[in-house]
Amino acid sequence: MGIADNLKTIGKKIPQNVKLIAVSKTKPVEIIQEAYDFGHRIFGENKPQELRDKQAIMPKDIEWHFIGHLQTNKVKYIAPFVSLIHGVDSLKVLNEINKQAIRNDRVIDCLIQIDIAHEETKFGLLEDQARELLNSDEFRSMKNVRICGLMGIGSITNDLNKTRGEFKELKTTFLKLKEEFFLKEDSFSEVSMGMSSDYSLAIEEGSTMVRIGSSIFGERDYLK
Ligand SMILES: *Cc1c(COP(=O)(O)O)cnc(C)c1O
Repeated sequence: MGIADNLKTIGKKIPQNVKLIAVSKTKPVEIIQEAYDFGHRIFGENKPQELRDKQAIMPKDIEWHFIGHLQTNKVKYIAPFVSLIHGVDSLKVLNEINKQAIRNDRVIDCLIQIDIAHEETKFGLLEDQARELLNSDEFRSMKNVRICGLMGIGSITNDLNKTRGEFKELKTTFLKLKEEFFLKEDSFSEVSMGMSSDYSLAIEEGSTMVRIGSSIFGERDYLK
């Protein structure tokens, strides 16, 4: 099956109100162009320089999402154009995003990453840490970032009940923080959860954005 077929198949399984982020990390621009030619416009990458280089040569109506762990010193590579940063997990990186957004005379949309899997290798804040960030004077003074919701990555497991529980937890945290901090802000509306192996489950639990790579582009070859 080709990329267009994959997009068609996945498109049928995703409700209209759920956005599909086609995760193109490690894939060359020729491959991404195939998805673009099919009509897809939202792509996700997890390495700032790779994202910058691809953005520079690909059509300008693409919405680029940064989905990985973002280091402070690399925000500058993506700040001029990025549509949404999914993985904000500290006040420090948010502060840098705000600074770079000012420099580029724009507002950058962000999601706070919540640690739902509790695995050593995964990033993200606990609910109370997110609350602390949102309550801080430093955050309140930032005018060039807009928090549009939350993002989470499920555990690596075959236990779908565990994954479902994690997604439920993320949705619950979203509703609580919405109530506490963003009741009047319609823009706080996104719950980014679900990947190739678990996106149907994520949608059942209230995902508004699924990030799908291998089911669209095939397995990634990290050794190349
Ligand atoms: C790579 C990646 C994805 C996509 O993973 P697939 O299993 O290939 O669909 C989604 N989210 C994040 C944060 C990723 O790093």
